[in-house]
Amino acid sequence: MLSPPHAGCYAVALAAVALSRPRPLYSSLFQHRSLAFSSRASLRFNLSSGMEHFSTKGSMDKKEGLVEQLKHYGMIKSDKVAEVMQIVDRGLFVPEGSPAYVDSPMPIGYNATISAPHMHATCLELLEEHLQPGMRALDVGSGTGYLTACFAMMVGPQGRTVGVEHIPELVASSINSIKRSAASSLLNEGSLSVHAADGRKGWPELAPYDAIHVGAASPDIPRALLEQLKPGGRMVIPVGNFFQNLKVVDKNDDGSVHVYSEASVRFVPLTSRAAQLQDY
Ligand code: SAH
Repeated sequence: MLSPPHAGCYAVALAAVALSRPRPLYSSLFQHRSLAFSSRASLRFNLSSGMEHFSTKGSMDKKEGLVEQLKHYGMIKSDKVAEVMQIVDRGLFVPEGSPAYVDSPMPIGYNATISAPHMHATCLELLEEHLQPGMRALDVGSGTGYLTACFAMMVGPQGRTVGVEHIPELVASSINSIKRSAASSLLNEGSLSVHAADGRKGWPELAPYDAIHVGAASPDIPRALLEQLKPGGRMVIPVGNFFQNLKVVDKNDDGSVHVYSEASVRFVPLTSRAAQLQDY
């Protein structure tokens, strides 16, 4: 069902996910009242500020169904990734009227798309070790802000998450979505921010980063991003033009770099704003 190329943020739907079997998987999580990101094993969320926005019972069921399907097909292996994808409601990030809980990318305007859930899951899985509480994450081409919010929930209030997106309207709508999501308190407290800028330059003010995610395909690995990756850190970036590979870039403690290809993918280009909006 999920054979390559994986639909990052561009290609047509690979498959709609059957949305069934509501199960109270994470109900215990929803009972926490404190904001604590104390251990790797347990994510706890500030429910007082976020949960009232958690949609209706119906969309909770569909969200759970999507996460269950991604687990079933092996796209989600870690409990922590399942938890964060469960608690950050994709329904708040897709444009109104778009189906939020199917495994497909969706247009978000400006020649951009929100990546398919299986691609979000893949990137979260690849970066999980580098999104521990207190760590720093950079999301380049943050688009809707969905993954940015997930990163922020994982690194927590002691960490720092930055989204960089070059379409100001998308920055504004991503901030609105985040404000309605479980990550709103992190935005308010300042451990999460989204900026309108050229992401090819990274965000040097808060470098170095433990985790860098790039949500658009670059012809090569931008030097600035490599420089802003912490020794021991990991970058996940689609590289290529028509044919693209999701590359995993590990920076060793001595500063040397190891790169491998995870999958064939199709993302929108990491480019200039003018080039992206040319025929829009
Ligand atoms: N992970 C995002 C992906 C959005 S699509 C999501 O799922 O919502 C890729 C995004 O990269 C688009 O929003 C596009 O506007 C942005 N982008 C492309 N080139 C960029 C650049 N040079 N700097 C910043 N953002 C860029």
